[in-house]
Amino acid sequence: MTAETAFASTGDLLARRRRLLGPAYRVFYDEPFHPVRGEGVWLYDADGRAFLDVYNNVPSVGHCHPRVVAALAEQASRLNTHTRYLHETVLDYAEALLATFPEEIGHVMLTCTGSEANDLAVRAARAFTGGTGFIVTDFAYHGVTVAVAEMSPSLGAGVTLGAHVRTVAAPETFRQTPAEAAARFEAEVRAAIADMHRNGVKPAALLFDTIFSSDGILPATGVVDGGVAAMREAGGLYIADEVQAGLARTGSAMWGFQRHGIVPDIVTFGKPMGDGHPVAGMAARPAVLKEFGEKTRYFNTFGGNPVSAAVGLAVLNVVKDEGLMANAERVGAHMRDGLRALGQRHPAIGDVRGAGLYVGIEMVEDDDARSPSPSRTTRLVNELRQRGILVGTSGRHANVVKVRPPLPFSTENADYFLERLEACLSA
Ligand code: PMP
Repeated sequence: MTAETAFASTGDLLARRRRLLGPAYRVFYDEPFHPVRGEGVWLYDADGRAFLDVYNNVPSVGHCHPRVVAALAEQASRLNTHTRYLHETVLDYAEALLATFPEEIGHVMLTCTGSEANDLAVRAARAFTGGTGFIVTDFAYHGVTVAVAEMSPSLGAGVTLGAHVRTVAAPETFRQTPAEAAARFEAEVRAAIADMHRNGVKPAALLFDTIFSSDGILPATGVVDGGVAAMREAGGLYIADEVQAGLARTGSAMWGFQRHGIVPDIVTFGKPMGDGHPVAGMAARPAVLKEFGEKTRYFNTFGGNPVSAAVGLAVLNVVKDEGLMANAERVGAHMRDGLRALGQRHPAIGDVRGAGLYVGIEMVEDDDARSPSPSRTTRLVNELRQRGILVGTSGRHANVVKVRPPLPFSTENADYFLERLEACLSA
């Protein structure tokens, strides 16, 4: 499409989507958003209007980063094949990735999506433990395949949980203390394991998102240790889903599990790894993969192809060369300070929490019970969109504003966001 071409209207696009893609797709915002170009932390709509992207973690190093685009174009114009042929780039990428993990994690297997990564982790955990029971948090999302959709209670009542799946409350620390959250998490994991045993189900793993994104963005540390220990005592594994928290976002660490100080048995990753290109995978302790790999072959047509590997490698290099982890730490702290100051003036902000550039703003009613306020949250998110700021929501009550911008987000970007947020709250 050339610059002179007129873009289709919102109404036409919505009707066409509905007709062609069917009824399962959703759009964000009362007035759907139609971006046509992206650069850094900005998206531009069909009218050329700039929107500050405070939401998208997939374009991790910024929309259309020139180094990533160049790596993609260079490899795509030379060769693209698959992992049944030898190619050095996939090994360079695996080496660079493994260097970001603790030494216990020794192998990496590549996929295209986070769902596939979790699905593979489920198979590996079953093979290693001989168990079939999985514990997830009660508003988790882990993906679209049959196996992991059945472990994703946030999909709602329309998707039945697997018969071998048990849920526990995520460790939240707004309405309980960290000590209470830790004790409750451990007690619920132990109860779930006991329930599995009563029903003849052998535990395979405890699987959780290390910042509990869909459960409402719960960054507290020191709260998962007892639960992980209980699962390991029962012979099961700890699978860390890093699809949301991974790749430097939480600021103090490359991976979310590092904040909790426990090395997982399996780590899955996805979304941000390719700056928009589908790059995902799983890393594991070699012992966990030994038997699985001996008994089963693994081939993923597109996973780890030379173009994806070149893209993944370029993203890792940009994160390092541009100091994006330190940036996430610094700008995230600045943003939370600003949000807490806003919270002093606006009681609708009940809680501000997060790690690095993953921040949640919990919106509440004006009552003593800190009741969740989904209606205020929806209004706020839509009002921000009207004012050129993109954010989303999270949590069982959809009352947590999800603030998760591309990693090159600056303090100036944060101040711009805070100004408009204040204007919306005052209005
Ligand atoms: N795990 C988590 C925590 C996620 O947030 C998502 C995607 N929202 C997935 C897994 C699935 O990833 P994908 O959409 O790439 O399949």
